Formats: sequence, C-alpha cells, structure tokens
Amino acid sequence: MFFQIEHKDKNCNARTGKINLEHGVVEVPVFMPVGTQASVKALTQEELEDIGTTIILCNAYHLYLRPGLETLSVAGGIHPFMSWEKPILTDSGGFQLFSLAHLNKVTNEGVIFQSHIDGSRHHITPEKMIQFQMDIGADIIMSFDECTPYPVSHKDAEKSMRRTIVWEKKGFEYWKERNEQSHSQLFGILQGSVYEDLRIKCAGELCGIDFPGFAIGGVSVGETDEERHRITEVSAKLLPENKPRYLMGVGAPEDVLWAIRCGVDMFDCVMPTRNARNGCLFTSHGKLNIRNARFVRDFNPLDEECTCPVCKRYTRAYLSHLYRAKEILAFRLNTLHNVYFMLKLFEKVRQAIREDRYLDFYNDFFSKYNIGN
Ligand SMILES: [Zn+2]
Repeated sequence: MFFQIEHKDKNCNARTGKINLEHGVVEVPVFMPVGTQASVKALTQEELEDIGTTIILCNAYHLYLRPGLETLSVAGGIHPFMSWEKPILTDSGGFQLFSLAHLNKVTNEGVIFQSHIDGSRHHITPEKMIQFQMDIGADIIMSFDECTPYPVSHKDAEKSMRRTIVWEKKGFEYWKERNEQSHSQLFGILQGSVYEDLRIKCAGELCGIDFPGFAIGGVSVGETDEERHRITEVSAKLLPENKPRYLMGVGAPEDVLWAIRCGVDMFDCVMPTRNARNGCLFTSHGKLNIRNARFVRDFNPLDEECTCPVCKRYTRAYLSHLYRAKEILAFRLNTLHNVYFMLKLFEKVRQAIREDRYLDFYNDFFSKYNIGN
C-alpha cells in the first residue's frame, strides 16, 4: 500500500502515517530538506543520513538544464548520480521556470523559454516534465504547474488555475500510460491563489483523478500569514483523506505546525538552509541571529535543548567568530544545526500525535518559541 494513516489525533486533524516508496519508507508528518541542484547546500549526503533525513527534494527544472538527462541517464538516475539511496521527491520546477527563466511563450501545450544559465532555448510540455522526472527515477514526482504571482486578480488567478488543470490532466495521462514500468508516484497540485472558491473549483477538477497524492501549491509567494493559514486549512479539507497531503514551499515552524493541525503531511522549504547561510538560526526560543554582537563572547551552546552535533560541541562565540570571519565552516555548521532542528521538531510532532497530545505540544512550543524574534 502506497500510503497508510497510522494514527489520527483525537483533538485535531493531525495524523501520522507511512509513505511506502521504492527507496524506502517515509514517516509523516515529514520535513524534506531542499537539494535543488542535487545537493542540500553545505551538507554532505552522509551528514543528512546521520541526522535522520528520510527524503530530500530536488528540482527538475534545474536538473533538466544541468547536468541534463543524458548525464543523469548514464549515471543510472538521480539516486546513484548523487549517491543518495533514500527517497527523492522532484518538484517539476514550475516555480523556478517562472521566476528564473526568460519566458517566450506560455500556452495550454506548454512553455517555450530560455535557460537562466546559458540562454539556450527549450520547449517544455507537461508530458515532457513528467517524463523527465520518471526517467531520472525520482520516487515522488510533481505535476507541471503554472506559478501564479501574488497579488493576483480573481480573473487572472482563475485563468492560471485553468491552465494548470489542463497541464495536470495531460501529465496524469502520460504518467498512467507509463506507470507500470516506473515506481515514480505522481502528485496533483491544487492552485487557486488566495481565493477560496477557486480552490474549491480546482479540487473539484483534480480530486476525482487518481493521483497517488496531492499538494497545496501557490502558497508562500508573498501572501500574509493569515491568508496562508486560511488557504492551508481550506485546501487541506478539500483533499482526499486517504492520500498524502503536501504543502509546497512552507517551512517556518509557525506555518508548519499550523498546517499539521489541519492534516497536512509533507513539507519542504529552503528557509532552514538559506537562513543558516545568513546566520539566522532556529532555537527552542525562536530565531537567533549569530551576527548579533551579544554572541561574540557567549560561550553557551547555540540551543541548550538541541542535541545536534553542533550544539553538543561548539559555542555561540565560536559560531559568531566563524560567521564574522566568513569561514566556510560557518555555513556548514549553521546549516547542519538548522536542518537537524527541523527534523527533530517533526520527530516530536509525530510522537505528540501518536499520543493524542498534538494541541498541547503546539501550545507548549509557542509558549517558548518567539515568532517575532
Ligand atoms: Zn543544534
């Protein structure tokens, strides 16, 4: 069985479960570190394994352009290429295509664009994007979708959503035909921006299709926290109960923990890794900026509650020094801690749900964790 729900919290919609994939079992709720270009920036695959990563995300748009299908095929797929034997989810790259590439033409058939790397011209169809993700052997693959900007009028949001639905249906048909020779599981993506009626319409079109799982897309694009929480809640309710639900691109603890209450199972976000490189570190009391002068002679661990290799060994003063001296080690240690923080948070989340105390856990967490910090 692809997805099994193991326990539903008695007091909210949070749930634990298992996703069975070709390269392993993923326990949910899960946080997936982002390895856009087949690398979680600053960490090695060994380090990711050592801190308990069960699945990572790579980006099909980037991998399509570089190293490209030929290299990945000769390598035997994305797993052997990067020497990662656990599950990989590939994002189809709609978001990156729309934000990085020079677009020439967008139609119901697909997109003609110029690469952000070398200006080369490409024609991508929804079928081709599914094909690429299947060919490189990703465990979970995403429908090709149009990234709706924010803010957007209701009319434009609907137009964009309609196009995405056409693309998703084409991608699904392609996937279904090839599915028997492949282990890649295709997820549908719910769009509709911040408009509840559009989310409902989109779900009406897509939820009847037998995608193995569904994602909530078009969030974390600049909307307010309230809008994000409302759309998450509305969308999660619209998606089938018996399939994994994935909230794309959302990773701040305050958003993630809210979404888990609503029954969302999977998350990815560049925030832990990107923040780390900017010196912004997660702690049980909220975010801390290691650039701050008060850490120069602070010989305490980064987070006294954290059991990561960084907090066990190094002090805030040392991390502060590394950052100021622009040592490569600063990026490495900061990233290791932030990714560990997220993985550990999710371990605690799963335990709390299993014991029907997720809401208590939620309240306890935010009684200490300062969001505005
Ligand atoms: Zn730590």
